[in-house]
Amino acid sequence: GQCTHWCPSGAITEKDEIDKVLQAIEDPEITVVVQTAPATRVGLGEEFGMPIGTNVEGKQVAALRKLGFDTIFDTTFTADLTIMEEGTELVKRVTGELNKPTPQLTSCCPGWVKFVEYFYPDLIPNLSSAKSPQQMAGALIKTYFAKTQKIDPEKIFSVSIMPCTAKKFEAQRSEFSSADKEFKDSKATADVDVVLTTKELAKMIKKKGIDFASLQDEKYDKLMGEGTGAGVIFGATGGVMEAAIRSVYYLVTKQAPPAALWNLTPVRGLTGVKEASVNIPGLGDVKVAVISGLANARKVMDQVKAGNASWAFIEVMACPGGCQYGGGQPRAAAPPSDTIRTQRSNSLYTLDKNAKVRNSHENTEITQIYKDYLHAPMSHLAEEILHTEYESRANTFTPQKSGSKLS
Ligand code: SF4
Repeated sequence: GQCTHWCPSGAITEKDEIDKVLQAIEDPEITVVVQTAPATRVGLGEEFGMPIGTNVEGKQVAALRKLGFDTIFDTTFTADLTIMEEGTELVKRVTGELNKPTPQLTSCCPGWVKFVEYFYPDLIPNLSSAKSPQQMAGALIKTYFAKTQKIDPEKIFSVSIMPCTAKKFEAQRSEFSSADKEFKDSKATADVDVVLTTKELAKMIKKKGIDFASLQDEKYDKLMGEGTGAGVIFGATGGVMEAAIRSVYYLVTKQAPPAALWNLTPVRGLTGVKEASVNIPGLGDVKVAVISGLANARKVMDQVKAGNASWAFIEVMACPGGCQYGGGQPRAAAPPSDTIRTQRSNSLYTLDKNAKVRNSHENTEITQIYKDYLHAPMSHLAEEILHTEYESRANTFTPQKSGSKLS
């Protein structure tokens, strides 16, 4: 994968990880909660002989239930939540209400975040403080979910299924431990205990002899199981930007975004650097850029650093094409190609097009979590649980022996 070099996973073997999850599932004292990233549903099927890009959302849920996971959530829910938090942050930066620079840079790709910490520490203030969808879900599983279900967070084991090997590193960052924000004396540690890649999930399904192709579709569990079309396109390059624009429009105007913003085609597709300009009444023309691949990011960040950038918001994904072709996604069906990337991305855009709800701010479980728990985007509690800080690693970079190429 493009990003495996960011994952200091020498100590983590695949077998340990799968065994840890199986052990937790077998322990009757432990509630095992799992979340699945937007991208896994358009990759997993290939491991079971299905056509490239097949959407297996419902079968994936059914397989996870058969494997014994107690609660199955959709990371797409926290993708929507990321939009609410990161969108609000963007508006506050642009209006000057928040004393932080523009362009705001997305923070949901750990390969990219680490790249900034190593090579562009001057731009750390530009990174959105919003945690990634994986880490928001992990934090909420050990706080909101634990509280709602009256379960001691120390008895919750939280697993995520990701298209990505860098997500393993992200989950281990020491700042991602939130249980004590809700339960004062809790000793629960990581918000996400184990990250499995899509390929590792396929391995588990095969190991247990589950006939994946013949599974009936099932649904995610309630509370954090609803995702919108905006959330699901997080899995393709440009998706975060498109989702953000729809909800920023709403946050500023309190009106539904116009039709053109429901298909923001300039930010779709596999071009390494894409741009768009969107007029949002009250904010004016908002210029945005979308980058996939870290070599492309370098070029654009040099411009930002030199003060030559007029963008308000920049999305960066380390993997060319975005998460749908991340290092943890199946590769067996065909050799890597842009055709596969396009097929998987199109499958995500079809999910969006057909979704009943296409805007993050209209997700009913998002409305509910703000009403019942978080109060408002960037409230004190939201800041505590859903936002984070970054640190310069400029002096700690040592090129690794293999795979140390940067893009
Ligand atoms: Fe992981 Fe997605 Fe970033 Fe690739 S683009 S490193 S899959 S988060």
